[in-house]
Amino acid sequence: MRTFQKSIKRIIVKLGSSQIADAKLQPKTADLKRLASQVAALRKENIEVIFVSSGAIALGMGELGESKRPTELAALQARAAIGQAALMRVYSELLKKVKLKCAQVLLTWDDFDNRARFLNARHTLEAILKQGVVPIINENDTTSTEEIKFGDNDKLSALVASLLRADLLVILSDVEGLYDANKRVFEEISEITTEIEGAAGGTKNHIARGGMKTKIDAVKIATHAHVPCIITAGNTPNVLTRLVKGQRLGTYFIEKKDKIFDGDSEHEFIRSHFQNRAGR
Ligand code: GLU
Repeated sequence: MRTFQKSIKRIIVKLGSSQIADAKLQPKTADLKRLASQVAALRKENIEVIFVSSGAIALGMGELGESKRPTELAALQARAAIGQAALMRVYSELLKKVKLKCAQVLLTWDDFDNRARFLNARHTLEAILKQGVVPIINENDTTSTEEIKFGDNDKLSALVASLLRADLLVILSDVEGLYDANKRVFEEISEITTEIEGAAGGTKNHIARGGMKTKIDAVKIATHAHVPCIITAGNTPNVLTRLVKGQRLGTYFIEKKDKIFDGDSEHEFIRSHFQNRAGR
């Protein structure tokens, strides 16, 4: 069994486009239904779940009957705007079946950069959670393009984990975890060494954009913000409830302990990272 350093009361669950859309770019309703039931089970144990969900572009393409991803940015942003409505429809229908409600929250990088907006986003999300409603967060692709270009919401999920001082970030993936050179899954990682970075490589397919490299980048942000992370396969039965119980699924990245945040230092941490990545 895995023992977490703190009790798990709030988890961020990141779903990439390939967790949301099938090969025909239609919603993976059966998989998402199973996740919704797990959210309901966790809520009964007073554990809050926040989804950071991609899939807008994929479902937007599906809505338009397209199979080839456009290359032009404005065309991708249009697919995201079209697909976001479909995405929320799926979440709200499935969560309704387990007597839960959801809220759409679209964030841009400016929301993390600007202190007033950062605090505002935090307060709004806290107020949503207080109502027992499940936030479904995505990048606001209409005006913000970082995740379209870089990572299918991997980085966004880490920043949200820091924003909300989450107890765990679960990145659901197509693979069982991070594999070593012998194709065995690393069970536990406390330091992201160059060997670990090398194992991550990078992949892209017609649905998923992130690959393991952007996931490891996200893990670095989250663990430095004192949030432990798990990368694991999204199709594992009862993945969320089993992880919270401490079952050894996927790769577990232990959080850093070096610096304890006080007050709003998360904002400074996030800003510094954002500035580095955006090259500002
Ligand atoms: N935010 C985007 C989405 O929801 C990112 C994924 C992508 O670039 O395909 O679709």
